[in-house]
Amino acid sequence: MKDELGQCSVCKKEHTSTNVEVTPGVFIYVCSDCLEKAKDNFIWICTSCGKHFIRPKELVINRTKDPELKKAYMLCRDMQIIQGIDMCIACDPQGIVEFMEAKRPAAKC
Ligand SMILES: [Zn+2]
Ligand SMILES: [Zn+2]
Repeated sequence: MKDELGQCSVCKKEHTSTNVEVTPGVFIYVCSDCLEKAKDNFIWICTSCGKHFIRPKELVINRTKDPELKKAYMLCRDMQIIQGIDMCIACDPQGIVEFMEAKRPAAKC
């Protein structure tokens, strides 16, 4: 926890002294409005470019087919969670392309 005031990493509007650890050792500032949003939404923040993604928890849980992942999401349904991700579509289009290529079925088999 740091004491200085910083710009909220989620809305980029408010200044706040509240900060959360999104991945070990990485802290971001989050204003009270955005923390409030985190009650009903999962918030992911890209630690590489700073872009954030907000998805309603119910939607995420309903769409998750993986039972293990679903269980994990259910467990944090009542928590205010802001999670850091290493990269996103915006900051690594090449990585996403490679991911899609890998997914594409082989032309001849
Ligand atoms: Zn905010
Ligand atoms: Zn990014």
